[in-house]
Amino acid sequence: MDLNLNLADITPEEQEEFKRNVFLTTVEEIKAWARRGSIWPMTFGLACCAIEMMAAGGAHFDISRIGKEVFRASPRHADCMIVAGTVTKKMAPILRRLYDQMPEPKWVIAMGVCATAGGPYVKSYAVVKGVDQIVPVDVYIPGCPPNPAALLYGLHKLEEKIRLEAKTGKRVM
Ligand code: SF4
Repeated sequence: MDLNLNLADITPEEQEEFKRNVFLTTVEEIKAWARRGSIWPMTFGLACCAIEMMAAGGAHFDISRIGKEVFRASPRHADCMIVAGTVTKKMAPILRRLYDQMPEPKWVIAMGVCATAGGPYVKSYAVVKGVDQIVPVDVYIPGCPPNPAALLYGLHKLEEKIRLEAKTGKRVM
């Protein structure tokens, strides 16, 4: 069978049929399509921002509309760590260990100003001034606290990033 099909050699009706029924892509893009549509977040609520993260799972915001509702308690079952709250220096090594236990590929969202930069506790000796000092962060969501809609927006940004990573074959930071 000749697989070197030239569209110019077939009738316009056949061309139309071909375009409607044949989908060309790469395996990496198919995997990225599946991944970004079913991200499994790990529960990492540390302070008040976690209440907004939980609200995203409620009926009003309904995070399951975008396929992200399967919050996992085990890092081995999750591919996205949503750090929602204040990261203390005592918590930092535990956060890193849990991140290391997540399988690749994995992503991190810093939700709220505490997770992104220390927030109102930036002058405290006990607080980490941004979770990116411990793990690589893919998406930063500002606010104190950001509302659930902001978290959904951040997850959409993460989807864009996963799509871009599949296209370029490189980790985008
Ligand atoms: S950013 Fe604001 S709401 Fe979120 S954990 Fe910090 S203090 Fe609480």
